[in-house]
Amino acid sequence: MKALITGGAGFLGSHLAEALIARGDTVYVLDNLSTGSIENIEHLKSDRRFHYAIDSVTNEPVAAELIDRVDVVFHLAAAVGVRLIVESPVNTIETNVHGTEMVLKLANKKKKKVLVASTSEVYGKSEDVPFHEEADLVMGPTSKGRWSYACSKAIDEFLALAYHKEKHLPVVIARLFNTVGPRQTGRYGMVVPNFVKQALLGHPITVYGDGEQSRCFTYVTDVVGALVKPADHEGAVGQVFNIGNDREEVTIRALAQRVKERTKSASEVVTIPYDKAYESGFEDMPRRVPDLGKIRALVGYEPGVHLDEILDRVIAYFTSDKARV
Ligand code: UDP
Repeated sequence: MKALITGGAGFLGSHLAEALIARGDTVYVLDNLSTGSIENIEHLKSDRRFHYAIDSVTNEPVAAELIDRVDVVFHLAAAVGVRLIVESPVNTIETNVHGTEMVLKLANKKKKKVLVASTSEVYGKSEDVPFHEEADLVMGPTSKGRWSYACSKAIDEFLALAYHKEKHLPVVIARLFNTVGPRQTGRYGMVVPNFVKQALLGHPITVYGDGEQSRCFTYVTDVVGALVKPADHEGAVGQVFNIGNDREEVTIRALAQRVKERTKSASEVVTIPYDKAYESGFEDMPRRVPDLGKIRALVGYEPGVHLDEILDRVIAYFTSDKARV
Protein backbone atom coordinates (compact mmCIF):
# COMPACT_ATOMS: atom_id res chain seq x y z
CA MET A 1 0.00 0.00 0.00
CA LYS A 2 1.04 3.59 -0.58
CA ALA A 3 0.01 6.02 2.14
CA LEU A 4 0.17 9.76 2.64
CA ILE A 5 0.39 10.98 6.23
CA THR A 6 -0.42 14.66 6.61
CA GLY A 7 1.22 15.85 9.82
CA GLY A 8 3.59 12.90 9.45
CA ALA A 9 6.48 14.68 11.17
CA GLY A 10 4.40 15.11 14.31
CA PHE A 11 4.42 12.90 17.36
CA LEU A 12 1.66 10.52 16.27
CA GLY A 13 2.33 10.84 12.52
CA SER A 14 5.95 9.80 12.87
CA HIS A 15 5.01 6.67 14.82
CA LEU A 16 2.41 5.83 12.18
CA ALA A 17 4.98 6.34 9.40
CA GLU A 18 7.36 4.00 11.22
CA ALA A 19 4.69 1.27 11.55
CA LEU A 20 3.63 1.49 7.90
CA ILE A 21 7.24 1.36 6.67
CA ALA A 22 7.86 -1.64 8.95
CA ARG A 23 5.02 -3.58 7.33
CA GLY A 24 6.32 -2.83 3.84
CA ASP A 25 4.20 0.14 2.78
CA THR A 26 5.46 3.17 0.90
CA VAL A 27 4.97 6.33 2.94
CA TYR A 28 4.72 9.98 1.92
CA VAL A 29 4.73 12.61 4.63
CA LEU A 30 3.39 16.14 4.19
CA ASP A 31 4.11 18.41 7.14
CA ASN A 32 4.71 22.15 7.51
CA LEU A 33 6.67 21.62 10.76
CA SER A 34 4.41 24.02 12.65
CA THR A 35 4.29 21.63 15.59
CA GLY A 36 6.06 18.62 14.07
CA SER A 37 9.82 18.28 13.74
CA ILE A 38 12.32 16.86 11.28
CA GLU A 39 13.99 15.01 14.15
CA ASN A 40 10.86 12.85 14.47
CA ILE A 41 11.39 11.43 10.97
CA GLU A 42 15.19 11.63 10.76
CA HIS A 43 15.56 7.86 11.26
CA LEU A 44 13.15 7.12 8.40
CA LYS A 45 14.78 9.30 5.75
CA SER A 46 17.24 6.65 4.61
CA ASP A 47 14.47 4.15 3.79
CA ARG A 48 13.81 4.13 0.05
CA ARG A 49 10.08 3.69 0.68
CA PHE A 50 9.94 6.87 2.74
CA HIS A 51 9.36 10.29 1.15
CA TYR A 52 8.57 13.66 2.66
CA ALA A 53 7.60 17.18 1.68
CA ILE A 54 7.85 20.14 4.03
CA ASP A 55 4.77 22.08 3.07
CA SER A 56 1.22 22.84 4.09
CA VAL A 57 -1.79 20.65 3.24
CA THR A 58 -3.38 23.83 2.00
CA ASN A 59 -0.76 24.16 -0.76
CA GLU A 60 -3.05 22.69 -3.39
CA PRO A 61 -0.60 21.60 -6.14
CA VAL A 62 1.67 19.85 -3.63
CA ALA A 63 -1.18 18.16 -1.76
CA ALA A 64 -2.83 17.13 -5.05
CA GLU A 65 0.36 15.55 -6.38
CA LEU A 66 0.91 13.53 -3.21
CA ILE A 67 -2.71 12.42 -2.87
CA ASP A 68 -2.62 11.26 -6.50
CA ARG A 69 0.33 8.99 -5.74
CA VAL A 70 -1.21 7.07 -2.83
CA ASP A 71 -4.00 4.62 -2.03
CA VAL A 72 -4.91 6.05 1.35
CA VAL A 73 -4.52 9.37 3.19
CA PHE A 74 -4.09 9.51 6.97
CA HIS A 75 -5.08 13.11 7.66
CA LEU A 76 -3.36 13.96 10.93
CA ALA A 77 -2.25 17.54 10.20
CA ALA A 78 -4.00 19.81 12.69
CA ALA A 79 -3.47 22.41 15.36
CA VAL A 80 -3.01 20.42 18.57
CA GLY A 81 -2.68 21.13 22.26
CA VAL A 82 -4.99 23.14 24.49
CA ARG A 83 -2.31 25.77 25.16
CA LEU A 84 -1.82 26.41 21.44
CA ILE A 85 -5.56 26.58 20.90
CA VAL A 86 -6.09 29.12 23.66
CA GLU A 87 -3.16 31.23 22.48
CA SER A 88 -3.75 31.03 18.69
CA PRO A 89 -7.45 30.53 18.06
CA VAL A 90 -7.43 31.94 14.51
CA ASN A 91 -4.69 29.58 13.46
CA THR A 92 -6.46 26.61 15.12
CA ILE A 93 -9.76 27.15 13.38
CA GLU A 94 -8.22 27.93 9.98
CA THR A 95 -5.71 25.07 10.07
CA ASN A 96 -8.26 22.49 11.11
CA VAL A 97 -11.04 23.54 8.79
CA HIS A 98 -9.12 24.54 5.63
CA GLY A 99 -6.66 21.63 5.82
CA THR A 100 -9.42 19.04 5.99
CA GLU A 101 -11.44 20.79 3.27
CA MET A 102 -8.42 20.60 0.99
CA VAL A 103 -7.63 16.95 1.70
CA LEU A 104 -11.22 15.80 1.20
CA LYS A 105 -11.68 17.84 -1.99
CA LEU A 106 -8.50 16.45 -3.56
CA ALA A 107 -9.02 12.87 -2.35
CA ASN A 108 -12.51 12.95 -3.82
CA LYS A 109 -11.18 13.50 -7.35
CA LYS A 110 -9.96 9.91 -7.51
CA LYS A 111 -11.94 8.56 -4.56
CA LYS A 112 -8.90 7.91 -2.40
CA LYS A 113 -9.67 6.61 1.07
CA VAL A 114 -9.19 9.20 3.84
CA LEU A 115 -8.80 8.47 7.52
CA VAL A 116 -9.48 11.67 9.47
CA ALA A 117 -7.90 11.92 12.92
CA SER A 118 -10.42 13.61 15.16
CA THR A 119 -10.42 13.98 18.91
CA SER A 120 -12.29 13.02 22.07
CA GLU A 121 -12.40 16.78 22.67
CA VAL A 122 -15.53 16.77 20.44
CA TYR A 123 -17.52 15.24 23.34
CA GLY A 124 -17.00 18.60 25.05
CA LYS A 125 -18.36 19.02 28.56
CA SER A 126 -20.50 15.91 28.46
CA GLU A 127 -20.35 13.88 31.69
CA ASP A 128 -22.15 10.93 30.14
CA VAL A 129 -19.13 8.62 30.36
CA PRO A 130 -18.04 6.37 28.79
CA PHE A 131 -18.42 8.40 25.61
CA HIS A 132 -20.15 6.50 22.83
CA GLU A 133 -19.74 7.56 19.21
CA GLU A 134 -23.45 8.29 18.85
CA ALA A 135 -23.67 10.40 22.02
CA ASP A 136 -24.54 14.11 21.98
CA LEU A 137 -21.64 16.56 21.85
CA VAL A 138 -21.85 19.19 24.60
CA MET A 139 -19.96 22.33 23.69
CA GLY A 140 -19.35 25.43 25.77
CA PRO A 141 -20.12 28.94 24.49
CA THR A 142 -18.24 30.48 21.55
CA SER A 143 -16.83 33.12 23.93
CA LYS A 144 -14.62 30.41 25.43
CA GLY A 145 -11.82 29.81 22.95
CA ARG A 146 -11.11 26.25 24.06
CA TRP A 147 -14.25 24.95 22.37
CA SER A 148 -13.13 26.22 18.97
CA TYR A 149 -10.89 23.17 18.74
CA ALA A 150 -13.77 20.77 19.39
CA CYS A 151 -16.03 22.65 16.98
CA SER A 152 -13.40 22.79 14.23
CA LYS A 153 -12.86 19.04 14.56
CA ALA A 154 -16.61 18.43 14.62
CA ILE A 155 -16.87 20.37 11.35
CA ASP A 156 -14.08 18.17 9.93
CA GLU A 157 -16.15 15.12 10.88
CA PHE A 158 -19.35 16.56 9.38
CA LEU A 159 -17.53 17.38 6.18
CA ALA A 160 -15.91 13.95 5.88
CA LEU A 161 -19.23 12.21 6.51
CA ALA A 162 -20.90 14.52 4.00
CA TYR A 163 -18.33 13.60 1.34
CA HIS A 164 -19.08 9.96 2.09
CA LYS A 165 -22.84 10.34 1.96
CA GLU A 166 -23.11 12.67 -0.99
CA LYS A 167 -20.08 11.75 -3.11
CA HIS A 168 -19.30 8.21 -1.93
CA LEU A 169 -15.79 9.10 -0.81
CA PRO A 170 -14.46 6.33 1.46
CA VAL A 171 -13.74 8.03 4.81
CA VAL A 172 -13.07 6.75 8.32
CA ILE A 173 -13.08 9.00 11.40
CA ALA A 174 -11.01 8.20 14.48
CA ARG A 175 -11.63 10.08 17.74
CA LEU A 176 -8.44 9.86 19.75
CA PHE A 177 -8.36 9.91 23.56
CA ASN A 178 -5.20 11.48 25.08
CA THR A 179 -2.44 9.79 23.13
CA VAL A 180 0.97 9.83 24.83
CA GLY A 181 4.43 8.40 24.26
CA PRO A 182 7.97 9.21 23.20
CA ARG A 183 8.41 12.27 20.92
CA GLN A 184 5.41 14.08 22.37
CA THR A 185 6.54 17.48 23.51
CA GLY A 186 5.18 19.38 26.49
CA ARG A 187 5.45 22.60 24.52
CA TYR A 188 1.77 22.71 23.59
CA GLY A 189 0.49 21.96 27.07
CA MET A 190 0.13 18.16 27.07
CA VAL A 191 0.06 16.97 30.62
CA VAL A 192 2.20 13.80 30.64
CA PRO A 193 5.37 15.20 29.03
CA ASN A 194 4.94 18.36 31.14
CA PHE A 195 4.69 16.46 34.42
CA VAL A 196 7.60 14.14 33.54
CA LYS A 197 9.86 17.06 32.64
CA GLN A 198 8.90 19.00 35.77
CA ALA A 199 9.56 15.93 37.94
CA LEU A 200 12.94 15.20 36.33
CA LEU A 201 14.04 18.82 36.76
CA GLY A 202 12.85 18.95 40.37
CA HIS A 203 10.45 21.77 39.47
CA PRO A 204 6.94 21.99 40.91
CA ILE A 205 4.48 19.63 39.19
CA THR A 206 1.67 21.94 38.06
CA VAL A 207 -1.84 20.53 38.47
CA TYR A 208 -4.39 22.84 36.90
CA GLY A 209 -7.76 23.44 38.58
CA ASP A 210 -8.53 21.19 41.54
CA GLY A 211 -6.92 18.17 39.89
CA GLU A 212 -10.13 16.13 40.15
CA GLN A 213 -10.62 16.17 36.36
CA SER A 214 -9.76 12.78 34.88
CA ARG A 215 -8.43 11.29 31.67
CA CYS A 216 -7.63 7.88 30.15
CA PHE A 217 -4.20 7.85 28.50
CA THR A 218 -3.43 5.75 25.43
CA TYR A 219 0.02 4.64 24.36
CA VAL A 220 0.97 5.85 20.90
CA THR A 221 1.64 2.40 19.40
CA ASP A 222 -1.80 1.22 20.52
CA VAL A 223 -3.27 4.19 18.68
CA VAL A 224 -1.19 3.47 15.58
CA GLY A 225 -2.46 -0.13 15.49
CA ALA A 226 -6.00 1.10 15.88
CA LEU A 227 -5.61 3.61 13.02
CA VAL A 228 -4.16 1.12 10.59
CA LYS A 229 -6.75 -1.61 11.10
CA PRO A 230 -9.91 0.39 10.28
CA ALA A 231 -8.07 2.03 7.37
CA ASP A 232 -7.65 -1.49 5.94
CA HIS A 233 -11.19 -2.62 6.78
CA GLU A 234 -14.10 -2.08 4.37
CA GLY A 235 -16.58 -2.22 7.26
CA ALA A 236 -15.08 0.95 8.72
CA VAL A 237 -15.96 3.18 5.78
CA GLY A 238 -18.36 5.99 6.65
CA GLN A 239 -17.95 5.27 10.39
CA VAL A 240 -16.73 7.15 13.45
CA PHE A 241 -14.59 5.24 15.98
CA ASN A 242 -13.28 6.03 19.43
CA ILE A 243 -9.65 5.00 19.91
CA GLY A 244 -8.38 5.06 23.47
CA ASN A 245 -7.58 3.06 26.56
CA ASP A 246 -10.47 2.18 28.90
CA ARG A 247 -8.36 0.24 31.39
CA GLU A 248 -7.69 3.09 33.78
CA GLU A 249 -9.24 6.48 34.40
CA VAL A 250 -6.93 8.67 36.44
CA THR A 251 -7.42 12.09 38.02
CA ILE A 252 -4.78 14.67 37.12
CA ARG A 253 -3.87 15.01 40.80
CA ALA A 254 -3.26 11.23 41.05
CA LEU A 255 -1.31 11.37 37.79
CA ALA A 256 1.01 14.01 39.25
CA GLN A 257 1.63 11.79 42.27
CA ARG A 258 2.29 8.74 40.04
CA VAL A 259 4.82 10.69 37.96
CA LYS A 260 6.51 11.96 41.12
CA GLU A 261 6.79 8.41 42.52
CA ARG A 262 7.98 6.77 39.31
CA THR A 263 10.66 9.41 38.70
CA LYS A 264 11.61 9.35 42.43
CA SER A 265 11.39 13.12 42.26
CA ALA A 266 11.52 15.53 45.16
CA SER A 267 9.24 17.93 43.24
CA GLU A 268 6.31 19.35 45.06
CA VAL A 269 2.83 18.98 43.52
CA VAL A 270 1.18 22.41 43.28
CA THR A 271 -2.25 23.49 42.04
CA ILE A 272 -2.69 26.42 39.68
CA PRO A 273 -6.11 27.95 38.97
CA TYR A 274 -7.29 27.55 35.38
CA ASP A 275 -7.40 31.30 34.78
CA LYS A 276 -3.68 31.52 35.55
CA ALA A 277 -2.78 28.36 33.61
CA TYR A 278 -4.80 29.24 30.50
CA GLU A 279 -7.09 32.27 30.49
CA SER A 280 -9.87 33.84 32.48
CA GLY A 281 -13.06 31.74 32.38
CA PHE A 282 -11.30 28.64 30.99
CA GLU A 283 -13.52 25.55 31.02
CA ASP A 284 -12.05 22.06 31.27
CA MET A 285 -13.56 18.67 30.49
CA PRO A 286 -14.29 17.03 33.85
CA ARG A 287 -13.96 13.40 32.66
CA ARG A 288 -12.99 11.71 29.44
CA VAL A 289 -13.49 7.94 29.14
CA PRO A 290 -13.91 6.10 25.82
CA ASP A 291 -16.50 3.48 25.01
CA LEU A 292 -14.44 1.13 22.84
CA GLY A 293 -17.22 -1.32 21.96
CA LYS A 294 -17.39 -0.28 18.33
CA ILE A 295 -13.72 -0.64 17.42
CA ARG A 296 -13.43 -3.83 19.49
CA ALA A 297 -16.30 -5.36 17.54
CA LEU A 298 -14.87 -4.29 14.17
CA VAL A 299 -11.20 -5.16 14.43
CA GLY A 300 -10.73 -6.75 17.87
CA TYR A 301 -8.79 -3.72 19.15
CA GLU A 302 -7.41 -4.00 22.68
CA PRO A 303 -5.19 -1.35 24.29
CA GLY A 304 -2.04 -3.17 25.35
CA VAL A 305 0.06 -0.68 27.32
CA HIS A 306 -1.12 0.28 30.81
CA LEU A 307 -0.67 3.64 32.50
CA ASP A 308 2.35 2.77 34.68
CA GLU A 309 4.13 1.30 31.67
CA ILE A 310 3.19 4.35 29.57
CA LEU A 311 4.68 6.64 32.22
CA ASP A 312 7.85 4.53 32.49
CA ARG A 313 8.36 4.66 28.71
CA VAL A 314 7.90 8.43 28.61
CA ILE A 315 10.27 8.83 31.57
CA ALA A 316 12.84 6.60 29.80
CA TYR A 317 12.50 8.72 26.66
CA PHE A 318 13.27 11.94 28.51
CA THR A 319 16.06 10.47 30.65
CA SER A 320 17.80 8.75 27.71
CA ASP A 321 18.70 12.16 26.27
CA LYS A 322 19.10 15.04 28.72
CA ALA A 323 18.58 17.58 25.92
CA ARG A 324 14.92 16.56 25.79
CA VAL A 325 14.19 17.61 29.36
N1 UDP B 1 -2.96 19.82 32.89
C1 UDP B 1 -2.39 20.07 34.13
N2 UDP B 1 -1.09 20.53 34.16
C2 UDP B 1 -0.35 20.72 33.01
C3 UDP B 1 -0.95 20.45 31.76
C4 UDP B 1 -2.26 20.00 31.74
O1 UDP B 1 -3.01 19.89 35.18
O2 UDP B 1 0.82 21.12 33.13
C5 UDP B 1 -4.36 19.28 32.87
C6 UDP B 1 -5.30 19.96 31.91
O3 UDP B 1 -5.89 21.11 32.50
C7 UDP B 1 -6.31 18.86 31.66
C8 UDP B 1 -5.46 17.58 31.72
O4 UDP B 1 -4.28 17.94 32.43
O5 UDP B 1 -7.28 18.79 32.66
C9 UDP B 1 -5.08 17.02 30.36
O6 UDP B 1 -4.52 18.08 29.61
P1 UDP B 1 -3.93 17.90 28.14
O7 UDP B 1 -3.66 19.28 27.64
O8 UDP B 1 -2.80 16.94 28.16
O9 UDP B 1 -5.08 17.21 27.30
P2 UDP B 1 -6.67 17.48 27.20
O10 UDP B 1 -7.27 16.24 27.78
O11 UDP B 1 -7.04 18.69 27.97
O12 UDP B 1 -6.90 17.61 25.75
